[in-house]
Amino acid sequence: MISELVTEIKGVGAKAAEDLSLMHIHTIVDLIYYFPYRYDVYEIRPLSELIHEDKVTIEGRVLNDPSLTFFGRKKSRLSFTVEVEGVAIKAVMFNRAFAKKQIQAENIITLTGKWDAHRLQITVSNYKVGPAEDQEKINPIYSVKGDFTNIKLKKVIQKALTDYGTGIHEILPERYLQSYKIPNRKDALFTMHFPKDRVALKHARRRFTYEEFLLFQLKMQLLRKLKRESTQGNAQHYDPILVQEFIGSFPFSLTSAQEKSLNQILADLKSPYRMNRLLQGDVGSGKTAVAAISLYASITAGKQGALMVPTEILAEQHYQSLTELFGERAKIVLLTGSIKGKKRKEILAKVLNHEADIVVGTHALIQDEVIFNDLGFAIVDEQHRFGVEQRRILRDKGLNPDVLFMTATPIPRTLAITAFGDMDVSVIDEMPAGRKEIETLWAKENTFERILTFIEQRVAEGEQAYVVSPLIEESDKLDIQNAVDLFHQLQEYFPKEVKVGLMHGRLPAAEKDGVMKQFAANDLQVLVSTTVVEVGVNVPNATIMVIYDADRFGLSQLHQLRGRVGRGKKQSYCILISEPKGEVGKERMRIMTETTDGFELSEQDLKLRGPGDFFGKKQSGVPEFKVADMIHDYRALETARKDAQEIIEENLLENDEDYYPLRHYIENQFSFTDKLD
Ligand code: ADP
Ligand code: MG
Repeated sequence: MISELVTEIKGVGAKAAEDLSLMHIHTIVDLIYYFPYRYDVYEIRPLSELIHEDKVTIEGRVLNDPSLTFFGRKKSRLSFTVEVEGVAIKAVMFNRAFAKKQIQAENIITLTGKWDAHRLQITVSNYKVGPAEDQEKINPIYSVKGDFTNIKLKKVIQKALTDYGTGIHEILPERYLQSYKIPNRKDALFTMHFPKDRVALKHARRRFTYEEFLLFQLKMQLLRKLKRESTQGNAQHYDPILVQEFIGSFPFSLTSAQEKSLNQILADLKSPYRMNRLLQGDVGSGKTAVAAISLYASITAGKQGALMVPTEILAEQHYQSLTELFGERAKIVLLTGSIKGKKRKEILAKVLNHEADIVVGTHALIQDEVIFNDLGFAIVDEQHRFGVEQRRILRDKGLNPDVLFMTATPIPRTLAITAFGDMDVSVIDEMPAGRKEIETLWAKENTFERILTFIEQRVAEGEQAYVVSPLIEESDKLDIQNAVDLFHQLQEYFPKEVKVGLMHGRLPAAEKDGVMKQFAANDLQVLVSTTVVEVGVNVPNATIMVIYDADRFGLSQLHQLRGRVGRGKKQSYCILISEPKGEVGKERMRIMTETTDGFELSEQDLKLRGPGDFFGKKQSGVPEFKVADMIHDYRALETARKDAQEIIEENLLENDEDYYPLRHYIENQFSFTDKLD
């Protein structure tokens, strides 16, 4: 039986089993699924095609017996000359004194190692006396522990495959193998360990990439389905006529992307399931409008709504714009940490006795003192700024309320598919018409004077500018000092008519609010700020965003900052001041100047940073795959997603016997019940 312990394999004793367990190999299945982490490909190429510093394989004739020198306590160097294509190549081998006996003048030898094209030298990592034809062309390299060597592990795997290979059964329906032209499970497994050639290996890897993605997708989607079915929600019977009338009162008509997202949300509200949906859309794509309409729908169904945002400024802005939008349609209250005393009590009372229809607020919303009368719909803006626990507390403020998460961080589709596989996702991937593209420039620090002149000119035209101050890592205090210094510097530089303001996180809330209001009213023309200005603030008259130390920010954050401008009808500019040292920093600047599409940007960010970094290490929730790579194999990921969707929607695991092996496999692999919260 393939599921038995490795000790069943002839020749694997207690010690070997112990070593194998260090590699997390316990059963025979574990063993045959222990894939090489890389493959060394030995392929003889002409000298002229060898690339400097590449790992290469050459075949030649040894010209002299190797000479051995010792240095240090245990270190040695063996060197000799090899003739390849009539050229003398120097071969150097470290710490393998024993090879001196094996290599002699006139031997034909095959060497693999790092190529130095300038010195015509190879630093040998592998050698074999004899011509290359005898050599295995593709050598799988495993990560080994204990007494195991690569060769020993290969032998054990070979034995396992020979003796137990008949126990490997296909789990994918034949139709997938056919349409994607991928090998069956058994063949693919053999190939992973003993590849005939590159092409076979490629197809075997394709197969496991697809298999891993499909299983992952099925798992996520089954989980989602289970969650839906097991969590009672409310069927909110909203009034479609009132909702239409509300939409009609807007000074603009919705983009079709807004409409599509809205309809998905409304359908969730109406259904008896509990909504668990993510609304994604670039800065300025109009998420707030969609949120407002759906909040209104819930109100017409007699419920209360909540909108939770990460900062006070943002809460106040949302409060104001919603109050304007709703007019007499709803009672909206604001609840933040800085609202205290009697006023706070009044607001809490309104929330409790349903005098308030909508509460907009910060973390203050999830304090114990906040008790809703009948919370039906909760929206969390900039959801990644809240922890899982905070989101849960908000949800528990009502009786199974529908929950919508919003994010302006355009999460790459590849990541969204995986990280949010158990959420429904709506995407606003279209900007309202008539927006001017923000022009992005990359400047060096010594051009700062010119930038200031430029700001002065724009201000003379009635426009405004943000200047984000230099960033000092991990030090809030120093960042503020920077902002203060820059503030004084600019105050001195600009003539009296240009009023400069200062904004940073340590200012008391009332003062922040005051500064923001002055800037919004164009009483201040230039706002020096730390990154607190990053989230959501809306001043359409601001047309310039200058960012110091731009290379110290991630692409997504830069994009967020840039999104503070370009909100009005005038041409806007984003000026990135930076002199990045590394290639990645330079690449980031280049990407910023080349695209304003948040999704494109986030895909690029993902490529530069890798999935783990994208959400920060802790909450990354990005699964690890053995073979598959989310970035490079994203097409396969999308294919697998579609297939998984079809399998779940049409209930093929139960309805179609071609899918039974897959179903059994999943049932054995995953335990779903403990994943439901
Ligand atoms: P987001 O929350 O996605 O950043 P907002 O909802 O704040 O975007 O919208 C940004 C601006 O665009 C707001 O001033 C809003 O009134 C306006 N807006 C929203 N939807 C549309 C639309 N369909 N057509 C024109 N303007 C729109
Ligand atoms: Mg917004």
